[in-house]
Amino acid sequence: MRLENKVCIVTGASSGIGREVALAYAKEGAKVVVSARRLEKLEELVKLDEDLSGEIHAIAVDVSKQEDIEKMVDQTVEKYGRVDILVNNAGILDSYKSAVSITDDIWEKMFKVNVDSVMRASRKVLPLMRKQKSGVILNTASVGGLNGMRGGLAYVATKHAVVGMTKHIGYSYAEEGIRCVGIAPGSVKTEIGENIKEPDMEVLGKLMKGFESFSSTTSPQELAKVYVFLASEDANFINGTTIVVDGGWTAF
Ligand code: NAD
Repeated sequence: MRLENKVCIVTGASSGIGREVALAYAKEGAKVVVSARRLEKLEELVKLDEDLSGEIHAIAVDVSKQEDIEKMVDQTVEKYGRVDILVNNAGILDSYKSAVSITDDIWEKMFKVNVDSVMRASRKVLPLMRKQKSGVILNTASVGGLNGMRGGLAYVATKHAVVGMTKHIGYSYAEEGIRCVGIAPGSVKTEIGENIKEPDMEVLGKLMKGFESFSSTTSPQELAKVYVFLASEDANFINGTTIVVDGGWTAF
């Protein structure tokens, strides 16, 4: 087992990528604290009849709230005494708004959920990891964090911010045994697009041209294998960078 007894926190674990990462970690022997707003969905995960070598514990957290982030980390430490791996995964889309159609409300919400949460959770766990002299922070970015037309303006801006934070944190604590790595998925089959309201069709039209060059979509289960590798000691020399996992989409 590659993550035996590692204490992990996975945000946005009620569905999609986060859910599968949490399950994969628990199968590798980790003690996984799963967080998201919907506790009932997290409880389903805890009660799953899967063959887990590790365990899963659920905490309701809205990552856009500072107090919830504090609670998530404090309760993890109360229960397990440390944090070895933090996966900053919770994230939302922006209805594909352009620089013309973006509203202040959408912009602010996007930054609270996709960026502030990553900064705050990292700020909270890093002092613990520095004391431990070990730790891994994995940030779910996106190909939209490295390319322009893979989402709306705010989505692309927030994911570029995640890629930037990954570099800064990775470099800052490299000599203290702490790694920070981003994952930039391409298209993954999840719930993320289900609640999009009034998409900006102009942006969507331009964005869909990119899909014409490549239409392959992967599953969150497949992607979770990369998260296991990056959290494990096999990836000890991968730090301060963002790994593209898009099946070749952005190579075009
Ligand atoms: P998803 O909608 O299935 O999962 C998102 C998770 O984040 C859910 O558990 C949701 O409840 C949680 N979440 C959203 N807002 C939250 C909040 N305020 N507080 C706490 N939890 C919150 O979608 P997904 O595709 O699994 O997305 C996970 C991550 O992957 C996101 O950061 C997303 O930007 C990124 N991503 C997804 C794709 C894709 O194609 N699906 C591609 C690139 C990057």
